[in-house]
Amino acid sequence: MRPEVRLTVLTGAGVSAASGVPTFRGPQGLWKNYPPEQLATADAFRRDPRLVWEWYNWRRELVAKCEPNAAHRVLAAWSARYHGFKLITQNVDGLHERAGTRSVIRFHGSIWEVLCWSRCAAAPARWRDETVPFPNIPPSCPHCGGLIRPGVVWFGEGIDPVVLEQSFEATECDLFLVIGTSAVVYPAAGLASQAARRGAITVEINPEITPATSSADLSIQGRAEEVLQELERLIQEGSALRP
Ligand code: NAD
Repeated sequence: MRPEVRLTVLTGAGVSAASGVPTFRGPQGLWKNYPPEQLATADAFRRDPRLVWEWYNWRRELVAKCEPNAAHRVLAAWSARYHGFKLITQNVDGLHERAGTRSVIRFHGSIWEVLCWSRCAAAPARWRDETVPFPNIPPSCPHCGGLIRPGVVWFGEGIDPVVLEQSFEATECDLFLVIGTSAVVYPAAGLASQAARRGAITVEINPEITPATSSADLSIQGRAEEVLQELERLIQEGSALRP
């Protein structure tokens, strides 16, 4: 591929599966028998902040022990090679950044950020806190003593308008890859069709059929960590053959 290609990649939980981070809809998706939709909501937090924080404390501990896998590494290499590279991730684990990927748009926030639940005036809008595990659950705001919440977008919440705008801009591209997402969580799931409307070629990489499969120009059924390594090998071979 030419270095000036405008390549945009949308990733989901499947990209981190090989690192050992459970997907929401996979067999490891349940924590203590709670489906994520019952924990990752503002209502659940209002009802039982301790329970929701126990889940996030568990996830933060789990992710802290995980390493980026081959899929993260190939994408990081592409972010350095292709000038028009953009990555929109629904993942909140920070593994793309740890692999060294440039231009990451964090669509659903980060589990490594927190914010004051009551948005107290003394606290910044959000801040990084990598304490693992939190000694006291639920953890409290260092500024007002009230609750803090994870810096992620919960089900039913809106996407930060700046992030939404950046993501919309990123759909103006030549090639749009959708990797490891079940393509059911909107508005992220609508980005591929947006890119297609704007003239991009769309390619899905997923071991399973998803609601996005039939509308993709090309669907590669396989695991992200294997398919991306193979694509990278073919790209390297291709550039070695070029005069
Ligand atoms: P999802 O759990 O709904 O779907 C995961 C998808 O990944 C499935 O389509 C599955 O077939 C596919 N998959 C599984 N293994 C794969 C592999 N090795 N290679 C490629 N694909 C693979 O996750 P989602 O679509 O990202 O959406 C759910 C929400 O869950 C998102 O908002 C995201 O923020 C959140 N989430 C994030 C993480 C994380 O940060 N790692 C983990 C779980 C859920």
